Amino acid sequence: MTDPIRLGIFGWPVAHSKSPAMHEAAAQALGLELRYERFAVEPEDLPDAIRRQHAAGIDGYNLTVPHKEAVIPLLDEVSSGARAIGAVNTVVRTGGRYVGHNTDASGFVRSLEEAGLELSRARVAIVGAGGAARAAVVGLADAGAEAIVVLSRRPEQAEALAAALLEKVDCDLQSAPLATAEDAFSKSDLLVQATSATLESNPGAGEFADSLPIDALPASAAVVDMVYKPLRTAVLARAEERGLRTVDGLGMLLHQGALAFEMWTGVEPPIDVMRAALEE
Ligand code: NDP
Repeated sequence: MTDPIRLGIFGWPVAHSKSPAMHEAAAQALGLELRYERFAVEPEDLPDAIRRQHAAGIDGYNLTVPHKEAVIPLLDEVSSGARAIGAVNTVVRTGGRYVGHNTDASGFVRSLEEAGLELSRARVAIVGAGGAARAAVVGLADAGAEAIVVLSRRPEQAEALAAALLEKVDCDLQSAPLATAEDAFSKSDLLVQATSATLESNPGAGEFADSLPIDALPASAAVVDMVYKPLRTAVLARAEERGLRTVDGLGMLLHQGALAFEMWTGVEPPIDVMRAALEE
């Protein structure tokens, strides 16, 4: 009898996370013994909580808001991809060492490819300049995007993001104030909504969507919202009204999880089973 694979997710709050259901469903379908816990940890308690789990020999874990950056100094090693993004969402115990990775960027790209979007030579506008936007820049540049402009309501945030990633990505990376989005949108094949403004908990989501110059996008453009609660965000609703192709944030959640599962177990997980667990 081998011990079950022990995994978990650190977040604050984390009660809403669907990751336990997604990973346990995949393990069950494969006949693997796996336990995936939720660790609700306040920011100031993260170092102690991580050290305790490392000492207990946890096999791996995920990090969600607000811990993706703060975990970095607590790890033995961080992959070059996660370093470029500046955030870790997946930790794998490798030969007794805890190594940080970021599967958000490749999970995001996989979700767009699965939706049939052509990313090679794409021109992209990204709204928002937080961690999710950074992962999108790195993933899209790796996938062959030609030009990316990051737009943020505080212009200095997008400027800092572009300055930090400029040397690390092979594409034309620019920043601009969100107030000037019309020009960027008119030249884009893909709009990425990477702010938290469209979350269902935000009463201003509709107003935010109305403030974006969606009408400036070419008729052939696609719109993706990284937020998955709700699935049909106010921004996607506006894009649909215009007849544009849309992609919701569930695919990114699914594929970042599938990539993490494979790193922890060495086994490719059943995607459909994981998707069904998320949709439940
Ligand atoms: P951060 O908090 O790091 O960044 C949020 C960004 O949104 C900031 O640039 C912030 O600007 C901006 N923002 C928030 N409200 C508004 C507004 N009303 N108008 C304009 N800009 C606004 O969050 P993350 O980058 O980590 O995540 C962003 C969203 O992406 C999350 O809500 C999450 O749901 C989603 N996400 C989805 C994933 C998936 O698997 N599908 C994975 C990761 C994230 P400011 O600093 O000025 O407030």
